[in-house]
Formats: sequence, C-alpha cells, structure tokens
Amino acid sequence: MVNYDVVIIGSGPGGYVAAIRAAQLGLKVAVVERENLGGICLNWGCIPTKSLLKSANVFEYIQHASDYGVSIDGTYNPDFGKMISRSRVVADGMSKGVQFLLKKNKIDTKIGTGKVTGKKTVEVTDLQGAKSELSASHIILATGAPSKELPNLKQDGIKIIGYRQALNLKSKPTSMVIVGSGAIGSEFAYFYHAIGTQVTLVEFLPTIVPLEDEEVSKTLEKSFKKSGMTVLTSSSVESVDTSGNLCKVKIKTPKGEEIHEADVVLSAVGISPNIENLGLEELGIELEKGKIKVDSWYQTNVPGIYAIGDIINTPALAHVASAEGILCVEKIAGLTPTPINYKNIPGCTYTSPEIASVGYTEKAAREAGYDLRIGKFPYTASGKASAAGAKDGFVKLIYDAKYGELLGGHMIGANVTELVAELVVARNLETTGLEMIKSIHPHPTMSEAIMEASAAAYGEVIHL
Ligand SMILES: Cc1cc2nc3c(=O)[nH]c(=O)nc-3n(C[C@H](O)[C@H](O)[C@H](O)COP(=O)(O)OP(=O)(O)OC[C@H]3O[C@@H](n4cnc5c(N)ncnc54)[C@H](O)[C@@H]3O)c2cc1C
Repeated sequence: MVNYDVVIIGSGPGGYVAAIRAAQLGLKVAVVERENLGGICLNWGCIPTKSLLKSANVFEYIQHASDYGVSIDGTYNPDFGKMISRSRVVADGMSKGVQFLLKKNKIDTKIGTGKVTGKKTVEVTDLQGAKSELSASHIILATGAPSKELPNLKQDGIKIIGYRQALNLKSKPTSMVIVGSGAIGSEFAYFYHAIGTQVTLVEFLPTIVPLEDEEVSKTLEKSFKKSGMTVLTSSSVESVDTSGNLCKVKIKTPKGEEIHEADVVLSAVGISPNIENLGLEELGIELEKGKIKVDSWYQTNVPGIYAIGDIINTPALAHVASAEGILCVEKIAGLTPTPINYKNIPGCTYTSPEIASVGYTEKAAREAGYDLRIGKFPYTASGKASAAGAKDGFVKLIYDAKYGELLGGHMIGANVTELVAELVVARNLETTGLEMIKSIHPHPTMSEAIMEASAAAYGEVIHL
C-alpha cells in the first residue's frame, strides 16, 4: 500500500487547492471525491450561478440597447433551457480543468466516498461499493456543506427546492418565493426576476444581504423593489402547503400574515456541514457549533487530522476554503505561514448592481470603539459609470480617524466585485487614507471612485 503524505477527502476549492499546493511542496497526495471534481463551487455554486447571472445581464442589456443607440429589430427572449445548459457546459469545463491540474501535479484521484477509519487511514468506497484503504501521515477533511433544511421548509426537490435544483430546473418558473436573502438567495432572486419570474424574496432580518453595510443593503433593496421584485424584510416563512398546483406560502410580516402563491419555493437559508459518516465520532473529533473545531493551522483535536472550508466555522466562501487549504498544507510541509486574518476576507454578491465589501462595516467599526472618517463617492459623479450607463451605486470607505488606516470598504454598483481586490491589498498593507488619495488611479475607470471616496473622507474630494 502507498503511504501518502496527505490524503484529502473532498475536491472542492478547499481540497483540490490544498492538494496542488501540497504537491508543489513535494508531498505525495491523494484526493478522494464522491461526485464531481471541483466540489460545490465549480459544479453547483460559484461558477454555474455566474454563468446564469451573465445570461441575465445580457438579456437586460438587450432590453436597454436603445439607450446606447443600438436598435434591435425582431423579438428577443430569454431561452431558459439554453441558459441552464450553457451553465452546465461552463461548470463541466471547470471540473475537467481540475482533473487536468490534479493529473499535472501527479496527485492520485480516488473516486468514491471517503471515511476516516483511523488516525492514519482512510477507507474509500467506490461507486460500485468496493472498499479500499489509503494510508496517510496527514488527513484533511474538506467535504463542504450542502444547503440547510429547515423543519418547516423540508425540501422535496420539486416544489420546495435547494440550490442544486434552482440551478437545473427543467423550465422557467412563473413565480418563485425565495427564503433567505444572503448572497446566494439574492443572486437567485436577481437572476430569476431578470428573466421574467415573479420573485418574492423573504428575509427574517430587517435588511436584505444582512451581512453587508446597512447603506449597501438598503440600496440593493431599493433597486430590487424598483425593478418590480417583492421584498419582504423582518418576515419569516411559517409554512408551505404543497398539496395544490401552486405552493401556498404562509409568511409572517410586520403587517401581519400573508399568503403568497408560487410555482416553487427556494430555500436559501444557509448550509449545513457534510460531517455525517466521516468517522468523526469514532475518532473523537470535536465539533463546535455543529462544525469541526480546528486550531489556527486547521488541525482538529486529533493530531494529524485537519479540516478546512465549509465544514469549519469560518466564512463559507470558496476563496476562504482555498486559502485555508494552502495554509494547512504549508504548515504540514514545515513552512512557517502566517495565520489568515479573517477581518480581511472580501465578500461579493453578483447581483445587478453588484456588491463587494471587505473589513469592518460602519456599525461594526463604531461598536469596536474606533473614531471614524467616512468617505462616500456616488457612481453618479463617475465619468466611467456615466459613460457605461451604470450610475446606480457608490463606494463607501471607512477610515480610522486616529491613524488613518482603512478599516472597511463597502461598494455597490457595476464592476465592484472586481474593484474590491484593491481594498483587500490596502487592508493587508495597512494602507492609510492619505496613501490611497495619493495613489493615482487611471481615468476613466470605476476605480477612481475608490480614490475619490478616500479624498471625501479627508475633505479633499474633487468631483463632488
Ligand atoms: C449557489 C451557490 C453559489 C455560491 N457562490 C459563491 C461565490 O460566488 N463565491 C464564493 O466564494 N463562494 C460561493 N459559494 C460558496 C462556495 O461554493 C463554498 O464556500 C465552497 O465550495 C466551499 O468549498 P469546500 O472545498 O469547503 O467544499 P465543497 O466545494 O462543498 O466541496 C466538497 C466536496 O467534498 C465531496 N465530499 C463530501 N463528502 C465526501 C466524502 N465522504 N467522500 C468523498 N467526497 C466527499 C463533495 O462531493 C464535494 O465535491 C456558493 C455556494 C452556492 C451553493
């Protein structure tokens, strides 16, 4: 039997990236995967959603073509089936890319279900049920997390659905209730509404995209409502009656109980970790708030067994899973990496307008006791945004008044998911507002809004 340095269970952005980095560092690696290489992210998450969102963007652009001086004769309609099949082709291509990368890095791929059977052994049950055993000096659990089920929102996969079904419906629903308005719920709400489904978005908390800065959340809510979407905040779904043709969704709102009818209900209330049948109990691996408990190097309480990505209590994002995977194997290989600073994790929501943020929200910065200098620059004052016909949005930057350090950045508008990387670097380098103002940004770009928002924080804004 080969003794691997590292065996990784799960090939999502946590697992496959950890595997490649480990191989780069000269370790002998195997990855065990029971479904598609690339995990949820490539197959049923980040990538297919972005493909569908692009289709929605194209459709919206065409609807506004005349604003740009382009007249379109004839009819144009969203072809739902083609949008879905395009997204599947994109996802399959990415999954094949992972297969290529694993092979290129001489990583063994074992297709089957992995289970930890000892401190240094992983049992693999292949798709035909045959069992084999892998021996490993280090075992990394990277099994991810599928969509969470609430007791009053049990998914039947047809009328009450989760993310996977929402990415692969046979036909476009006429109406849809989406429960949960985090990044994923809001992205589906935007997509389905843009292609003509009547969407009702229900959020338990007072604002949609509740993790975002309040001003950003309110702006997205306004934009959704302006486009005709029904948005119910401070509201909760009490029950869903699926006995008739349409689902009857009972929703408790601040104004009282409402019944909304819809073809389908999408539960987008979060995720629950894949920790069943992994052998955790037998080995005494400790959990914390339902997920696997790890130290700063992602080691569980059992030495030699690690966990990364959506199965631990860190932000459930692909780039976080990858960063954790890299750090985990660098530590295993004897390097001295720096622990991840979880205050510098960017978050993006790919609706239209897009949202992107990093660091403290205004509320969190105030609660942390900082005195603030806040600068805001609206897209209405940006030449590039005007030229692009994308004047909805703003950049809001939060600086520490004492030392000038950038504490947080919150943006809504076209292209902000690309702009946010600048703020991540700025946060990592503890960049000050004055340094941001003096960093010359190219004209005309949306990125000038970052320089101008910094200038606004210091009373030096030019274009307002
Ligand atoms: C609809 C949607 C959209 C999203 N969009 C974004 C986005 O835009 N940006 C972003 O950063 N994040 C996004 N996410 C979140 C992102 O997909 C996850 O954070 C990321 O995939 C987590 O990576 P992971 O490696 O921890 O696990 P996963 O990607 O979930 O991979 C885990 C893998 O482990 C396999 N597995 C599980 N158990 C076993 C076992 N016992 N044996 C063998 N294999 C096993 C699974 O089959 C799976 O392939 C989105 C998620 C969803 C659902």
